[in-house]
Amino acid sequence: MSVKRIYFDHSATTPVDQEVANTMLEYMTEKFGNASSIHSFGREAKKAVEEAREQVAKLIGAQSNEIFFTSGGTEGDNWAIKGVAYANRKKGNHIITTAIEHHAILHTCEYLEKNGFTVTYLPVDENAMIRLEDLKNAITDKTILISIMFANNEVGTIQPIKEIGQIAKDKGIYFHTDAVQAVGNYPIDVKEMNIDLLSLSGHKFHAGKGVGALYIRRGVRIEEIQHGGAHERNMRAGTENVPGIVGLGKAAEIAQRDMDIKIKHITGLRDKLIAEVMEKIPHVKLNGHPTMRLPGNVNFSFLYVEGESLLLNLDLKGIAASSGSACTSGSLDPSHVLLAMGLSHEVAHGSLRVTLGRGNTAEEADYFLEVLPEILERLRSMSPLYGQNTETLASNPCNLCNHQIAQH
Ligand SMILES: *Cc1c(COP(=O)(O)O)cnc(C)c1O
Repeated sequence: MSVKRIYFDHSATTPVDQEVANTMLEYMTEKFGNASSIHSFGREAKKAVEEAREQVAKLIGAQSNEIFFTSGGTEGDNWAIKGVAYANRKKGNHIITTAIEHHAILHTCEYLEKNGFTVTYLPVDENAMIRLEDLKNAITDKTILISIMFANNEVGTIQPIKEIGQIAKDKGIYFHTDAVQAVGNYPIDVKEMNIDLLSLSGHKFHAGKGVGALYIRRGVRIEEIQHGGAHERNMRAGTENVPGIVGLGKAAEIAQRDMDIKIKHITGLRDKLIAEVMEKIPHVKLNGHPTMRLPGNVNFSFLYVEGESLLLNLDLKGIAASSGSACTSGSLDPSHVLLAMGLSHEVAHGSLRVTLGRGNTAEEADYFLEVLPEILERLRSMSPLYGQNTETLASNPCNLCNHQIAQH
């Protein structure tokens, strides 16, 4: 008997839209030209790439000549940070970011720290929000870039982007935002929000994997980081991923067209899941901001449960979700985001992320709500800590998964 499968992991990746896939196929088979060739095959590909540039620009309120195609969110983040750092190092060597960024940002900043730059990692409050006062206080006369994510991939918290942009603008500092989770899920206008650079990724909003874009406001001083041919107006060498780019454009068009209906549908499912879990299940905490959060993001910590066991048990029931703990997936560290929000290792280890997409239904949410309590009860009944006082819990931050503190 096959178990029906439910996909609740849209922040990890999304299925390619059928219409997008059809378009991509066309540009892999019949219209396979190299966009740099001057014959008709090349011109056909080039025209499609330029159309996609306009579609992507429109989705975020940019001009099409401010959109540069990349291989995804990671490349966009690397390019924005290294590119601005290298181009402006005469002016200063200080970068401000946050403690809860994606590793594409954090590891790039750590790399720059080894190469003469200094980085401030802003803390966040218990809802994963930065404080604008902290940002203002961190700015020095050496600050050249502020990079703060639009919406967090784990807990869904949406930052006060327009206000951050205004602070940066007033000080003449560039503002980059990793908007990979927000694009297609939340209305964005780069001009109104004072954004100078923005990274986006196709596979997070129903386009293909390995394609994305970096918005670079006209006038921003930035160096290219991939050298070679004259592609992307001399800014990003390498033969264009024409099928990927055309698919990205199509996905942007669909996202814009369906934005309001999608947000309404997904927010409804999110709020139903949050309300029912908080009401029915004891010892649970909602992670992330109660209202300023992505439409499709639900993130809980269940006390006395190990997140990975919960995931495996949900998977047996056909439900694909994600967790903020990585005990069994190679790394022993709980999520840096949950720890930055002040959660103890114990509580961080019991976290579960459910990220909804436009294809999810109320029936799927009901099925999840039906199987979750049984699984939690079973796992908790096996925990030696369940029913004990919380002081024991606090004394060893990771005794649920039997790791020694030293390992963290
Ligand atoms: C997925 C993700 C990335 C990386 O994007 P890729 O296209 O997979 O390289 C970067 N930042 C955030 C917030 C993400 O969610």
